[in-house]
Amino acid sequence: MARKIRNAADIGAGNRLAIIRLLRQEPLTRAELARRTGLTRAAVTIISERLISEDLLREKKDRRLFLQSDQFQFAGIDISRHGIQLGLADLSGQTLACQDLALTGFDSFEQLAASLADRTGQLLNPKVRGIGISVPGPVDARSGLVINPPRFGLLQEKNIQAALAGRLGLPLRVENNAAARTLWEKHLGQGRALDNFLLLIVDSGIGGGLVLDGRLYRGLGFAAEIGHMSLDPAGPLCECGNRGCLENAASTTAVLKGSSFCSWPGLARAAEGGDPEALGLLRGQAEKLGQAITNVTNLLDLEAVIITGDPVSRPQLLLQLVKEQVDARRITRQIHALAVVAADFRPDAALAAAAMIAVDSFLA
Ligand SMILES: [Zn+2]
Repeated sequence: MARKIRNAADIGAGNRLAIIRLLRQEPLTRAELARRTGLTRAAVTIISERLISEDLLREKKDRRLFLQSDQFQFAGIDISRHGIQLGLADLSGQTLACQDLALTGFDSFEQLAASLADRTGQLLNPKVRGIGISVPGPVDARSGLVINPPRFGLLQEKNIQAALAGRLGLPLRVENNAAARTLWEKHLGQGRALDNFLLLIVDSGIGGGLVLDGRLYRGLGFAAEIGHMSLDPAGPLCECGNRGCLENAASTTAVLKGSSFCSWPGLARAAEGGDPEALGLLRGQAEKLGQAITNVTNLLDLEAVIITGDPVSRPQLLLQLVKEQVDARRITRQIHALAVVAADFRPDAALAAAAMIAVDSFLA
């Protein structure tokens, strides 16, 4: 596959990450690392000596190198409209502690920030190297300012990074929750062997994240707002000011509205059983998602689309319907495959993704 020429620093960071990724799965000798990464033995030796000096790697008696994952911990805080999930994970993405908090009871941002600082502070220990915070977008990831997330007044124009950094005394990075999920999929999930993919979060809204050429793509900081891709110029007016946005046609909220179903898994189960109303709704959702995915892949020529959010508990039929839509429409359909897969279901996904923001910063 053709790749963009990168500068030396990029190559160095990329090679270092490639070695860490392999060692996350199992201990390997330098020779095995060279074979699997395609790097020279000399390059592997230089990089691994550096990682050993940073205490990230150690060598076993049989000369295999292993990652000291448990020595490097990261705190994660995910704030969403459904509530807060916070806890700790290690370098391999293993969750070490996880707690769910309701948002009710916080009357102001200041109250929320104080409580988060307090609870996170109780989790910290000397092995914790950084903190990742994921919030509903749009957010300016450079400054940590949450701009104007729809239906979420508590965070409106608030700088979560500034509010917590001083209180916790550790490197802290903020991302929107779609970017956080995308980082997780890239490091440890369905995207770990992929360089070009779209992540779609389907829940009360629709969020997106892009990995292009192996990296999270940000544009000027606010890329991948696929929920606000217009599919119908005469469609209903969206909060964003555009008409006929994907989110208003294919989010869980939009699909369930006015139906006899009260949850997405309930709808999917009924559709699998042949219920005509459920099948119609699921086909409608798949058609809209397929339309948006086709637009994105025609523009960017992706390897895969990873769907997460409500569908992960029962994804099969939706994936099949979306794939049919996309494979009937995309320009590359006779040239190469486009995988449409679901993220793995895990109850601590929000925390794991938030902690991965800190892991990603640390490894970079
Ligand atoms: Zn919109």
